[in-house]
Amino acid sequence: MSIFQTINFECGETIFCEGEWGDCSYIILSGKVRIHKALTNGSQTTIAELGADQFFGEMALVAPGERSATVTVLEDCSVIVLTQAQFQSRTGTLDPVIKMVFDIILLRFRNTLKQLKDDNWELSEPDDAIAEQTRKALDQIHFEAEIRQGIAKGQFRLHYQPIVCLRTGKLAGFEGLMRWDHPTRGMVPPSKFIPVAEACNIIPRMTRMAIKQACSDLNDISVTALGNIPGANTPFVTVNVSGRDLANRNFYPFVERCVQHYGVPNGALKLEVTESSLMDDIDEVSSRMGRLRKAGVRIAIDDFGTGYSSLGYLSKLPISTLKIDRSFVISMLESDQMRKVTSGILRLAEQLGIDVVAEGIEETAHAEHLASESCDFGQGYLYSKPLPVEDLSLLIRHWSPRISELLKQPQTAQVTH
Ligand code: C2E
Ligand code: CA
Ligand code: CA
Repeated sequence: MSIFQTINFECGETIFCEGEWGDCSYIILSGKVRIHKALTNGSQTTIAELGADQFFGEMALVAPGERSATVTVLEDCSVIVLTQAQFQSRTGTLDPVIKMVFDIILLRFRNTLKQLKDDNWELSEPDDAIAEQTRKALDQIHFEAEIRQGIAKGQFRLHYQPIVCLRTGKLAGFEGLMRWDHPTRGMVPPSKFIPVAEACNIIPRMTRMAIKQACSDLNDISVTALGNIPGANTPFVTVNVSGRDLANRNFYPFVERCVQHYGVPNGALKLEVTESSLMDDIDEVSSRMGRLRKAGVRIAIDDFGTGYSSLGYLSKLPISTLKIDRSFVISMLESDQMRKVTSGILRLAEQLGIDVVAEGIEETAHAEHLASESCDFGQGYLYSKPLPVEDLSLLIRHWSPRISELLKQPQTAQVTH
């Protein structure tokens, strides 16, 4: 994080002159300045007088260039300097559409200044950087429109990946993972469309679709599972939700209505949230989640251990499950340290009465090690890739014999249909 510099100026000093090159702006802490411009007849005209908490020189932040006015100190003042580099480190993460709008406003502003100053002015054309920014913004706008159309046309559907009890090898539940069956691009993975859906606020709609589909599919999945697995419990289905959903107060009553409408059994719907999405207002989120818990909805922490957050929230929130990230599972058998970290997470969860799902299990050795450490559940390509709901009945019907075979095999294996 950059440190902002504070500078003091005395009455009568010039902070910068019209025409001078500049790449920073100023926020006035105390004192007063006058902003003025030269007229064609040589006299000066005052544009503004600014005091504490006001801002000047802001155009240089968007693009360094010639100052369009002079700033003189009227009363001794102290200012904070905000440089273009400091500004850019914040805008680097901005949506390309917002960046494009910034660039275009600046270009128009500079053209207007030239026009006012000089009768023979020449229009500045967008440079390569602006053209590139515009292209990125247009790509995003098209992609966003395609996502919205895809939703309207029913091209988005959850696929389900089994979650397996590591002790018995029985199916315990399924994680719902969104898939976009695009008519020309084929199956688009979530890594491509979730970030765009987050950026343009389509996520709340997508999450609602996912929760409705999961609640509705749960009935079919339960009927097949209970009919085919002797002694099976009602399976649970999980849905991934984002920080935006949790921050929206209408989200919670929506989930409660879905659970009621579809008659979801107690504990059968689980919401997966990441640690970073919980950090906004933990007390508020805690009371809303408490309401969900009362409605029979469970909460899982996804990608546990990758969020670098304080563990305090574990005692504040009604969490039923931790999902150990794939990165721990992959390196667990090679690295002594990682094995200890994984083991530590399992002991912590045990102490708190929280169950654990290990993600990304691809090898039997991983499943066996996790089972020996009393990890409750596992999920990964060893058991199955995510499947469309219509393929689940086949998977469930052939589950018991298949899975015991898989657990005996030393090499990586997959259930494919
Ligand atoms: P996630 O929630 O951590 O989901 C697990 C990801 O790991 C899934 O990728 C799954 O297909 C993949 N995976 C499962 N087992 C294995 C394995 O053994 N090996 C490997 N290499 N990968 C495995 P997917 O489906 O591409 O989803 C990626 C991420 O997109 C998800 O990560 C989740 O963060 C997000 N996502 C997916 N669906 C939704 C959704 O409906 N809503 C939201 N907000 N995010 C979603
Ligand atoms: Ca997940
Ligand atoms: Ca995960």
